[in-house]
Amino acid sequence: MKTAFENYLSLLDEASRIARFTPEEKRSLALPDRILEKTLRIMRDSGEEVELPAYRVQFNNARGPYKGGIRFHPAADLDEVEALAALMALKCAVVGIPLGGAKGGVTFDPKTYSRAEIERVARAFARAFSEDIGVDRDIPAPDVYTNAEVMGYMLDEFERTKNKSEPGVITGKPLSVGGSEGRDSATAQGGVYVLEALRESLGKKREDMKVVVQGFGNAGYHAARILHGLGYPIVGVGDSKGGVASEKGIDPLLVYRAKHEKDAVTSLYCEGSVCDKEKLLRDEARIVTHEELLTLSCDVFIPAALDRQITDTNAEAVRAPIILELANGPVTPEADAILAKKGTLVVPDILANAGGVTVSYFEWVQNRTGERWTEQYVHEKLRPIMTRAFDDIWKKAHGMDITLRQAAVTLGCERILQALKARGRV
Ligand code: NAD
Repeated sequence: MKTAFENYLSLLDEASRIARFTPEEKRSLALPDRILEKTLRIMRDSGEEVELPAYRVQFNNARGPYKGGIRFHPAADLDEVEALAALMALKCAVVGIPLGGAKGGVTFDPKTYSRAEIERVARAFARAFSEDIGVDRDIPAPDVYTNAEVMGYMLDEFERTKNKSEPGVITGKPLSVGGSEGRDSATAQGGVYVLEALRESLGKKREDMKVVVQGFGNAGYHAARILHGLGYPIVGVGDSKGGVASEKGIDPLLVYRAKHEKDAVTSLYCEGSVCDKEKLLRDEARIVTHEELLTLSCDVFIPAALDRQITDTNAEAVRAPIILELANGPVTPEADAILAKKGTLVVPDILANAGGVTVSYFEWVQNRTGERWTEQYVHEKLRPIMTRAFDDIWKKAHGMDITLRQAAVTLGCERILQALKARGRV
């Protein structure tokens, strides 16, 4: 199996072939600007000192300051962080916001750390990289197992180290220290705007587009909630513990309440392994496994959980004709080829989930201007950006007879190259 960065290089190979990039142009998109590696020394609650590897990859800043999240994960390594940094550069270019691409990571298991220990990791990261990040240089944000609270600690530590106020150095912050309204639901809302544009292009009605959502966290829950509100039937939802399917339709708010109380989507019908058969019968619902959720009959499948969920072993069985990638990298390259052959429309992550970084950009703009936007205003600004990006990619895919992923990657590469050329770097 290829590594994450090798996957990025394969995407770049395809885009180079499609757009006929010169070897120099291709090389300029294959290499990160800077790879920063540090060791964080953290005092555990027990008094023991541990050393954690920490990374920041600044991939490309031709279109604006570096931008990208920081993940706390035991599997976070340089290869993964480098690939995600490259994809961030493409994502910002695809939606046309004036930012470049970066990513960061700390290799440890935050589930085994107390809140106080996680705060120490966040502060140590901000100190270690304080010379490398900045409102005009490189702007971190939350990613896997980091959140607004962690961003708040990082902001505080950065500003203390620099002895000045600089709220725009980090996005995804709590509202009280300059976060943006609408950031929580931004990824889902952006994906919904893209799906709406696709639906209009296909001339379909909302009520005829049955949706299954895999993952019921930030991205998945808000996507199910917004789509349900618009009239899309939600016929399946799932999380790490299992899923629920119902042809009659599922109300995401009821699922949210059940999950909130008992930490599982299935707790809407079950206490542990004991399920309420009458309630299931009344709702024409059934409990499904992870694999069953992936292969339910529906019109739109939304992976909103982990990467590598649709692989060469299950792609053939996926029945949805449309896949909207809210998660990063949920479809492996091998599965992508199988789905393309079947005619499945895969709306790629660098378009489908770009609403998150777009609202992060809005947060940065608000921090720089001192303005505070309402959630409604955030949505008004987000919709045209997502719709235009979809239109650009849709036209390119149809004009060149390529997949939406190939069109998105090629478009992103072309826009970065334009900026590199304008700067005389290529
Ligand atoms: P989250 O931690 O809030 O939610 C993840 C959900 O996935 C949880 O409900 C979890 O139970 C579920 N899950 C885990 N393993 C599963 C499995 N095997 N089958 C089904 N469900 C499973 O995370 P999130 O912020 O919603 O992010 C989800 C995905 O979206 C990630 O790939 C992330 O990189 C991507 N994404 C999120 C944002 C954002 O703003 N939150 C932005 C861009 C991309």
